[in-house]
Amino acid sequence: MEFLSTELFFGLTVREIGIGLLILWVLWGPVSKLFKKNTGRVLKKKKCRGCTWVGPASDETKRCPKCRGPLITAE
Ligand SMILES: [Zn+2]
Repeated sequence: MEFLSTELFFGLTVREIGIGLLILWVLWGPVSKLFKKNTGRVLKKKKCRGCTWVGPASDETKRCPKCRGPLITAE
């Protein structure tokens, strides 16, 4: 296993580069999940002003699915 301690570049050995890649690969999982969460649509509890409809809706949803009335964010 002598090639593992052979310096490739910048004084880094094959083993050190391998460990570095492994750490990057392990870290990439939670990081990419975090990005997906941020870009994903966030649902908020909203209610209709025209009728009694209450339910989860994204910010893009501006109209009530029941009566097409304006939605307001319910707190
Ligand atoms: Zn409605």
